[in-house]
Amino acid sequence: MNAHDSERIKGMLESLGLGEAPSQEEADVLVFNTCTVREKPDTKLAAYLGDAGARKRQDPELVVAVGGCYAEAQRERIFELYPQVDVAFGPGSIPHLGDWIGANGEAPRGRFGTHEHFAGDLPMHRERRYSAWVQVSMGCNSKCAYCIVPAVRGREQSRRPGEIVAEVTHLATDGVKEITLLGQNVNSWGRDLRPELDTEFGELLRACDGVEGIERIRFTSPHPKDFRDPVIAAVAECDAVCEQIHLPLQSGSSRILKAMRRTYDRGRYLALVDKLRAAIPGLALGTDIIVGFPGETEDDFAQTLEVVEEVRYDSAFTFIYSPRHGTEAAALPDQVPEDVKHARLERLVEVTQRIAAEKNAQRVGSMEEVLVEGRSRTDATLLRGRTRSNLTVNFAGDAAPGQLVAVLIEGSTSTTLRGAQRTAVAA
Ligand code: SF4
Repeated sequence: MNAHDSERIKGMLESLGLGEAPSQEEADVLVFNTCTVREKPDTKLAAYLGDAGARKRQDPELVVAVGGCYAEAQRERIFELYPQVDVAFGPGSIPHLGDWIGANGEAPRGRFGTHEHFAGDLPMHRERRYSAWVQVSMGCNSKCAYCIVPAVRGREQSRRPGEIVAEVTHLATDGVKEITLLGQNVNSWGRDLRPELDTEFGELLRACDGVEGIERIRFTSPHPKDFRDPVIAAVAECDAVCEQIHLPLQSGSSRILKAMRRTYDRGRYLALVDKLRAAIPGLALGTDIIVGFPGETEDDFAQTLEVVEEVRYDSAFTFIYSPRHGTEAAALPDQVPEDVKHARLERLVEVTQRIAAEKNAQRVGSMEEVLVEGRSRTDATLLRGRTRSNLTVNFAGDAAPGQLVAVLIEGSTSTTLRGAQRTAVAA
């Protein structure tokens, strides 16, 4: 979501006639788009703003803007904490950036915007030409005990389906082949549109699938508690919807899941995995896991490892629990010591990487449909692209970015595949 916001910010600045500076030192306007889900980015921002403050003392014309969730979370104090900041804006106020930073890069001091609008109709600077993010909702009505998102992004607001499909259609005419629908909890999309509109996320997937030119549809993140049958049916039946789902687990212990207020338990989660796999052949599953939530015992952690072994995820984002000021979990007793958290993370990563490597090795010898992104980052003689399961493939071939090609998989690691192009499967 944050990366998507950065594309909007870039697009807004470009519409004001401001281009990307070759380096920070040469910029007239510095914009920081922040994330505050974990503590580390906050610390990094403090260092960056320290540098920006030093530059501003030399060059008082320099404009410093801070956007994103950190700005929103600190809206009462940000100008006090960082006097070098001229403009601060929450994730929903990107549309107003143009009012605050003029075309000549001058900014009035101390403007703060909060969540108000969808950024759908804003200019956007897409980092990848053939793939795009499409925001379907903002905010979240869940109350996960560790999460700062509801406090900074507000209650869930669904974007209207007509607006979403119009954006997808526009992207398709612009050559986009792959879209990722974005929301904090995509599966509860549409609930707040009732009673005026009776719709749900499965229907939205089907509408996007009907857009000419869109070959791949992904979505993130679905909350396991809201994964209902119409969505499963839409994933199974729509040609463009990829057989890949990111299904956050967070913990394998029902006791910890309850403390996290995730509102599902281990049994319900595993039953959902079975249901998804039965309905969607070849499904690739990814997940998010937090280790060291307050009160997590060795036994709770062992249960997380058990679930990981049982589900055998294709990919996993693993995190050390980081207390966020203003969340319920930050005030809980029994915070797990740092060294224990780190040791658990290491053990978890070992297991998730081993399983991912084993699963990727099983793909060797198979033919995969790959959307070409460009040259390989590690070897310029090779091309780089992604499979429908969202794995990066480096391969020998002759195709242009944006093409879909068939690639024979010849090798693998825990994160990437290697192969050779066989045929172009679509222009
Ligand atoms: S579902 Fe939970 S973890 Fe996800 S954004 Fe909402 S509160 Fe945060």
